[in-house]
Amino acid sequence: MIVTRFAPSPTGFLHLGHVHSALAGWNRARQAGGRFLLRIEDIDATRCRPEFAAAIEEDLRWLGIDWDGPVRVQSRYFADYRVSLDRLAGMGLLYPCFCTRAEIAREIAASGGAPQGPDGPLYPGTCRRLSAAEREARMARGDPFALRLDMAAAVARVGALDFEEEGRGRLRCDPARFGDVVLARKEVPASYHLCVTHDDARDGVTVVTRGEDLLPATDLHRLIQSLMGWPEPAYRHHALLVDAEGRRLAKRDGALAVRALREAGRSPAEVCSMAGH
Ligand code: GLU
Repeated sequence: MIVTRFAPSPTGFLHLGHVHSALAGWNRARQAGGRFLLRIEDIDATRCRPEFAAAIEEDLRWLGIDWDGPVRVQSRYFADYRVSLDRLAGMGLLYPCFCTRAEIAREIAASGGAPQGPDGPLYPGTCRRLSAAEREARMARGDPFALRLDMAAAVARVGALDFEEEGRGRLRCDPARFGDVVLARKEVPASYHLCVTHDDARDGVTVVTRGEDLLPATDLHRLIQSLMGWPEPAYRHHALLVDAEGRRLAKRDGALAVRALREAGRSPAEVCSMAGH
């Protein structure tokens, strides 16, 4: 059975870009007689707000986009993500990173620059080189730390990877271009990449439908799935909605929020059509 999902982060009101994405997943599931799930990706408490999560559900209902089963709210499941982190740590693939952003920037500048990854300059690996004694001493001292994936070791463990992009066939993965990614942050005990792959596996998602801005991240997601022995979903990355000037729709375009359009008298069908469906 086809299982898709819509996984917004509640950092603002639902806008046309979200509707486009939600309908991509909803249509894919409903046309196949499958299941469509809703997940709230709210692990970052500094950016996400419960009011926005409630508003997202209300706006989806108003649009007639229904979902199956309970909504998964990620911030309630940090203990689950911890178990996955412990497994990766058990494989020797995680290390604590005590660096601040400023220290990383200084280190990169001092070494004459760093290669660019999809999310910015690659981490120079400073804390990977700490001895076990240094790590323990800093942890005992209470220094805050993130957990990073030892990318070279992870890639060596799983070998070559690819994934099925619906309509495009199999695409080769190159997760190494992300460098030693953070899988648990200092202030949030998990990361998007870990939680999204965990939940897609847990929920039995068979086709991940989402914006093409996340296409590069799929390389990393396949790596985590492979390390964890999680099933491999197919992917369908859709083009992002853009405005008349060709710019990606953003939350600051308040007039494109579903509630604003609703207050302006638009019907659900009109809003779905404005979102390209
Ligand atoms: N929560 C992510 C976002 O709102 C989407 C994650 C995904 O679909 O994989 O951008």
